[in-house]
Amino acid sequence: MESARDDVLILGGGVIGLACALYLLKAGASVRVLEQGTPGCGSSHGNCGTITPSHAPPLAMPGMIGVALRSIFHADAPLYLNPRLDGARLRWLLGFARHCNWRDFHAATQARLAILQRSRRLLAELVRDDRLDCEFAEQGTLLVYRTARLQKIDEKKHTAVLESLGIEVQRLSGEQVEAMEPALKPGVAGGLLHPQDASLRPDRYLAELARRVVELGGVIESGARIEGFETDRTRITGVQSSRGRFRAERVVLALGAWSPLLARQLGLQLPMQPGKGYSLTYNRPALAPRRALTLCEPSVCVTSWSGGYRLGSTMEFSGYREGLNRPRLDALRRGAAAFLREPEGSELVEEWWGWRPMSVDEVPIIGASARWANLWLATAHGMLGVSMSAATGELMAALLAGTPSAIDASPYAPARFGL
Ligand SMILES: Cc1cc2nc3c(=O)[nH]c(=O)nc-3n(C[C@H](O)[C@H](O)[C@H](O)COP(=O)(O)OP(=O)(O)OC[C@H]3O[C@@H](n4cnc5c(N)ncnc54)[C@H](O)[C@@H]3O)c2cc1C
Repeated sequence: MESARDDVLILGGGVIGLACALYLLKAGASVRVLEQGTPGCGSSHGNCGTITPSHAPPLAMPGMIGVALRSIFHADAPLYLNPRLDGARLRWLLGFARHCNWRDFHAATQARLAILQRSRRLLAELVRDDRLDCEFAEQGTLLVYRTARLQKIDEKKHTAVLESLGIEVQRLSGEQVEAMEPALKPGVAGGLLHPQDASLRPDRYLAELARRVVELGGVIESGARIEGFETDRTRITGVQSSRGRFRAERVVLALGAWSPLLARQLGLQLPMQPGKGYSLTYNRPALAPRRALTLCEPSVCVTSWSGGYRLGSTMEFSGYREGLNRPRLDALRRGAAAFLREPEGSELVEEWWGWRPMSVDEVPIIGASARWANLWLATAHGMLGVSMSAATGELMAALLAGTPSAIDASPYAPARFGL
């Protein structure tokens, strides 16, 4: 089977592929999305749904490699590096280590902040103007500490950087935090509130993006597994999938953590690794937190919605190994139990794992390929794909149309990796 020719073929129906589709449709392009499963079935499904300009600083900073190496001995550590390194993972780790310096830290922070802030604003507009029913809540996110020592360290490192960038952080005493969040057990040492952050329900957000894409005339091909490419010397002339061959003027590769696997067929070596995370979704406990919380010592994120409740997080580098990991799920439960009066809902709805698409410099890869004349990349959003989704879509639409973009596109350019 062969489809009609579209203006833009988007590879991958996660939050990034769908956000690109939506903004391209709004700009007047005809768009088709190829997705191997159903829209939003990848990393975009069971994530924590926080929208966090406060997460502009990357993980890569001096000292981080020591933390990663020590984690080898603790299979339930929030950040875990599996010691059985293959060649690709070792190369990625060495590249990541090279970015663990203050100069790259500040450059990555600036690049991430620009797209996070733009996206935060656009998301509120999208929710309002496109009537996205996704439990979008603008109540900020709250970091909760049970030890004053960790709060002090975070204030010195994290808060100082954010405040120097103009991001508001409110320092709260233990009593203030407990008064704001009665779901917490007594004994809170303090908290840091990021009032500009927000949250949403990811599966609803994805369903609503898909709805708008279809309403605006886009086509989503579910169950279309991309298997290969047809090319001439400079262009991609066709995409082969389990549902036939598709052609388009332009191709956007938005395959999340799977991006390097398919890009390899085009001769592109994307410096990315899957950063595996887990979540547990329950029905909502009677005493659920009012806003999204990060329980800092165990590094567990807690998000509540009207009909649901999720514990999530952990970052594991173990390559493309699929499946759940019991010790890491148990660590989420233990972490929540130490902080919350009702740490779990009465009914466990879903145990989930997902692969964050982690680039070696923790800055997304967005823009035109230097190798293929009609290929654009929109990938490597790491821990922040939901937060960066709207601005990625807007940027991609501007880049494809050749019109000025709302944010400077150069920090995200694939050309920095020779792609
Ligand atoms: C535990 C956890 C918590 C997180 N919490 C947050 C959070 O609070 N806030 C935030 O902003 N981000 C969060 N993230 C990160 C966020 O989930 C990701 O950055 C985001 O989902 C990436 O979106 P994507 O569209 O690039 O990738 P994906 O959603 O993975 O989409 C890629 C799509 O490509 C499809 N695909 C792959 N191969 C093929 C093929 N051969 N043919 C066709 N289709 C294919 C997949 O099926 C998939 O649907 C979290 C992630 C995890 C794991």
